[in-house]
Amino acid sequence: MNSKLALGKQDAGEAEADFNDLGFSTRTIHEPFQSAPPRFLRGAPQSSNCGRTTLVEPHGVDGDLSATWQLENKLARLEGAEAGLVLSSGLVAFRTLVRSFLAAGDEMIVDRPVCTDTAYLMREIVSAVGARLVPADLSDPEAIGRSITARTRIVYFDTPTNPLNNILDIAAITEHAHAYGLKVAVDGTFATPVLQRPLGHGADIVRHSLSKYITGHGDTIGGALLGEATVIRQLREERLRQRHETTISPQASFLILRGLNTLASTLPIRTAPAGPTF
Ligand SMILES: *Cc1c(COP(=O)(O)O)cnc(C)c1O
Repeated sequence: MNSKLALGKQDAGEAEADFNDLGFSTRTIHEPFQSAPPRFLRGAPQSSNCGRTTLVEPHGVDGDLSATWQLENKLARLEGAEAGLVLSSGLVAFRTLVRSFLAAGDEMIVDRPVCTDTAYLMREIVSAVGARLVPADLSDPEAIGRSITARTRIVYFDTPTNPLNNILDIAAITEHAHAYGLKVAVDGTFATPVLQRPLGHGADIVRHSLSKYITGHGDTIGGALLGEATVIRQLREERLRQRHETTISPQASFLILRGLNTLASTLPIRTAPAGPTF
């Protein structure tokens, strides 16, 4: 084990910084140094929140017992995000994003839609709050300028795209969107943070369906939103308003944490990029 992970007298901030210098695979498995053994190591690994389950935040007083709390923190560290929110599915993560940032009359620019069930469901979710999807060909980032109106709030796209695997230029799209004061949310499901970390290219929010490569075993479902702490707080407040249908089960979080342990080695390309940037 790397000496940086060994117990010793070390400042917590310094330890976190050292931890972020470690390789990706190491960070999928280990936790940063903590002065006392984390409480979850002494408790049940699939623990919920001491019986209070969905009624409180996963990181409440007893939060460090919760598998979901561990998963949120681990995903945030791997994406280079300040904070994370884990939800019951990828689509629920999208809906939480929409309900947090769009109101009736607002518009969301999306990459030109392909005819998939996901595109159909996305339209339903956006219309349910009275907002509108505005398709644009984001392979040309200047399409944002041609599609924007006074009601545009956010630009949303997946890359690599599902199902065609087109690659969009996150940095260029973000630069254009930010110039108009729009937020940018990127679906990174296909690449996973092993291969692509959109926040490092300027995006504000990353969404994942955890049901695919991140879980890796095809035995559970989950979704995540990662970004700045203030953005995640706003999303978390929205989640609390619809908690009965958005909360992931502790066992699902446990299974996804297990999948993360070997995520880097299951993908065909291994990378050894610098640690998260925040
Ligand atoms: C699979 C997928 C989803 C749906 O995720 P669920 O976790 O099944 O709800 C959303 N977006 C993309 C890009 C996907 O590949």
